[in-house]
Amino acid sequence: MQAATLVAPPQVSSNHQINPWHSAQRQFDEAVRYLSLPPGLADMLRETKRELIVKFPVVMDDGSIQMFTGYRVHHNAVRGPTKGGIRYDTNVSLDEMRALAMWMTWKCSLMNIPYGGAKGGVACNPRKLSPRELEKLTRRYATEISIMMSPLGDIPAPDMGTNPQIMAWIMDTYSMHVGYSVPAVVTGKPTQVGGSLGRREGTGRGVTYVVEETLRQQRMIPDETTVVVQGFGNVGSVAARTLQELGCRVIGVSDITGGIYNPRGIDPVDLLRYHHETGSVIDYMGLDTLTNAELLEQKCDVLVPAALENQITDRNADRLRCKIVAEGANGPTTPDADVILGERGILVVPDILCNAGGVTVSYFEWVQDLQSFFWTEAEINDRLRRIMVNAFNEVLNESQQRGVNLRTAAQILAISRVAEATMTRGIYP
Ligand code: NAD
Repeated sequence: MQAATLVAPPQVSSNHQINPWHSAQRQFDEAVRYLSLPPGLADMLRETKRELIVKFPVVMDDGSIQMFTGYRVHHNAVRGPTKGGIRYDTNVSLDEMRALAMWMTWKCSLMNIPYGGAKGGVACNPRKLSPRELEKLTRRYATEISIMMSPLGDIPAPDMGTNPQIMAWIMDTYSMHVGYSVPAVVTGKPTQVGGSLGRREGTGRGVTYVVEETLRQQRMIPDETTVVVQGFGNVGSVAARTLQELGCRVIGVSDITGGIYNPRGIDPVDLLRYHHETGSVIDYMGLDTLTNAELLEQKCDVLVPAALENQITDRNADRLRCKIVAEGANGPTTPDADVILGERGILVVPDILCNAGGVTVSYFEWVQDLQSFFWTEAEINDRLRRIMVNAFNEVLNESQQRGVNLRTAAQILAISRVAEATMTRGIYP
């Protein structure tokens, strides 16, 4: 087979404005060099399949009408229905959705779960919306993207700025349109409406399963391991708690308001209580406040970026003082930073492996919804651990055999499975 022609990687000038879609395509180009794909196939996998942009009004609490822009992007549906979260954030853009959708395709493939990749979102600040406004925005957005969403076609889930309540509103809106309850149209729902036990914790717990394997492979002992976590939302707070349960000492945490650092340790359970009360982590126990940038540069063994993209760039990669970066967030490390970290011997456990616990338990939730038969939390965690450990070992093996870093190894495995599935199905018509 002839190797595919590659498009030149986009130039990245300032890491300040790094475009995540360009990063995702650069990572793809790096991995695809190791695969002999039929001509044209790489071009297909490098692009998205469908993109929807919606502009819609919401009547705000004061009676005014405000316009919002939302997106739903399907990257690839060859291995099954598309799957991917919904993000509410002011910086949501089409290119961000494209990148996140592509990463979802590789993540599902790497975990060997029968899904393709998608992502959606609304450019908004959810913290500035009242509960009523949030519900109206969600129901209108769900209606607008309902031409892209269905239980066997495209199944959303929570991401940054969204939560189980928002998933319940999406499920209810879709169900009202078709006239009967369709729990399997979205995952990450509350358990009262078809959610799965262990889903809320799935991503953070999965991060911990992967860190545990990484520490074992690096001959490091959890009891002697220090951890810094950026982002104290769904992923970061659960990762911090479960890493502490594993024996690690959490010494730094941040959220959008800033960070705190205590080399003697921070109790994530007590910090979560404080966070619920005050809405932020800063001033906890009178600790000094750091910026997010400063937090990332604190000395620790494992750094878990669990907030958003482009946090580790060529501007700060040479100042990181950790041994392992475990990517809880999607796309926290830019391709240029990857090179610097590799040269410095810092091991990066890539997002599509490290944070895949969320989509894995989302898959369990979908299976349970379709069967109307629910599993125990112990069954879920046990199956999750087996899938994550297996994927970790496959990636490690691929990386050692090819002499590439874990990200490229993970992408090689993921892309090759999607490529094989495409060729097996054939190109329609
Ligand atoms: P979340 O909204 O629950 O929490 C996000 C956290 O990041 C919050 O603590 C917030 O304060 C912080 N944050 C936001 N903007 C920030 C900024 N500019 N600087 C520093 N901190 C900031 O979101 P989440 O669901 O925990 O998602 C976090 C990351 O994990 C995202 O990259 C998401 O794509 C990824 N992820 C989430 C899931 C999931 O199941 N929720 C699964 C896989 C990956």
